[in-house]
Amino acid sequence: MNALISVSDKTGVLALAQGLHALGVKLLSTGGTAKLLADAGLPVTEVADHTGFPEMLDGRVKTLHPKIHGGLLARRGLPAHMAALAEHGIETIDLLVVNLYPFEATVAKPGCTLEDAIENIDIGGPAMVRSAAKNWQDVAVLTDASQYEAVLAELQAGKGKLSDKTRFALSVAAFNRIADYDGAISDFLSAVDFEASAGQPSPVRALFPAQSNGRFVKLQDLRYGENPHQQAAFYRDLYPAPGSLVSARQLQGKELSYNNIADADAAWECVKSFDVPACVIVKHANPCGVAVGKDALEAYSKAFQTDPTSAFGGIIAFNRPVDLAAAEAVHKQFVEVLMAPGYSDEALALFQSTKAKQNVRVLQIALPAGGATDWDNGRNAMDVKRIGSGLLIQTADNHELQLADLKVVTKKQPTPEELQDLLFAWKVAKYVKSNAIVFCKNGMTMGVGAGQMSRLDSARIASIKAEHAKLSLAGTVVASDAFFPFRDGLDVVVDAGATCVIQPGGSMRDQEVIDAADERGVAMVFSGVRHFRH
Ligand code: 5GP
Repeated sequence: MNALISVSDKTGVLALAQGLHALGVKLLSTGGTAKLLADAGLPVTEVADHTGFPEMLDGRVKTLHPKIHGGLLARRGLPAHMAALAEHGIETIDLLVVNLYPFEATVAKPGCTLEDAIENIDIGGPAMVRSAAKNWQDVAVLTDASQYEAVLAELQAGKGKLSDKTRFALSVAAFNRIADYDGAISDFLSAVDFEASAGQPSPVRALFPAQSNGRFVKLQDLRYGENPHQQAAFYRDLYPAPGSLVSARQLQGKELSYNNIADADAAWECVKSFDVPACVIVKHANPCGVAVGKDALEAYSKAFQTDPTSAFGGIIAFNRPVDLAAAEAVHKQFVEVLMAPGYSDEALALFQSTKAKQNVRVLQIALPAGGATDWDNGRNAMDVKRIGSGLLIQTADNHELQLADLKVVTKKQPTPEELQDLLFAWKVAKYVKSNAIVFCKNGMTMGVGAGQMSRLDSARIASIKAEHAKLSLAGTVVASDAFFPFRDGLDVVVDAGATCVIQPGGSMRDQEVIDAADERGVAMVFSGVRHFRH
């Protein structure tokens, strides 16, 4: 049996080669790899000696030779193939170990030039990987160091043989690796603005390259999609941002559904935007209760009060670990999914205590390196919407409003408490589907109007919800995700009890709305930004 080993990243390759040698496998290798193996005392033939052709063109041509590709591609069961090998003095190559020039790592370095990138495009490596992967019935191909141990163990147990299943899985992994690699090359080159600097091509990391090869990795098949007659699966980005939902570990409970995941993401993205302990309860992609508090328990209790009816069967997210006290409070309501960066042992035990509670899907999201306030909101920040046979892609809505950005436009000034609540309400409104109207007080949502085609109706619905929850909107602040086109929307929220309003401003009739606020004796600030969310 012959093995060809040609790796850029030499991690673990020596142990693998030693194991192969012990099994009587003949080793064939390219320059750098051959040297490493020979230095360790292993008998190894250089590819150049094997083919009778030197490596040339600075390593651009090493293994591109019929003696290599014939040995990889010949079907062992076809007499004509084997006769052709014999006629040309070609030996079969039965195991291929290749990892490619580090293209992805090269272009990830700041200041990488087009020349650096091009030199790091591996040619012979992918060619061999494709040959071996195509001929998976006769050849095994390893493309990642993480595969070495298991494959060597199987070879040892099988006296040099691998199962069909293993060879097929290795082939699939190999084609995936090649697709990722070529995708990275294509993404990089598609982002180069060739004409940018006087004919001197320089890589410009365009946000939106001419072609996008965004690749995804399947996490799990789902029982069904948004509705039972739809099929679905859950994928993650090839390189996910730390602290995002796809890194969650499910600690217990029923299988996650498509809607669970969509709602969990909405809850998680909202709750992680707070620096202080916060709780978000989501139903049908909208927050139905959001609050901050001194701890998880207080945040939850306040969030729940916003809309206890809607919270039934909700998705609950915390940005701080859940202790027994918070778990006991949550335990009292019907919850579909619970999400937090951690749980105390007692809290987890509580969710194991009854059969019904064991169904609750409990997710843990690993804390980012910087701790609970460092969720790295900005990274991986692309927002994608699928349309008929296409995609709309935009940078995510990462805008964070600061106190200094607020412009008071009324005679009445907000109090310091109102200013705090304005920022809180604004943050929540960003995560509520448009048209969004959010009443808040003391770091708690008091009424949420979401997803209406008319801003007036959103305002009315928010007040109705407060009424149902027996909350008084007197003295609340209110956030509107986009401007009030007329004074009527403002009148509705002031009639409901709001004394302070935040909205982007920018309407043709801003003055009419400002005059109305002055007439009604409320304070109003402009944020200068809009948070449509559809
Ligand atoms: P070594 O360090 O052994 O000299 O080189 C190993 C690397 O060379 C591997 O990453 C392998 O994919 C790559 N390689 C093997 N054959 C060829 C070839 O013919 N052309 C190019 N450009 N790279 C090759």
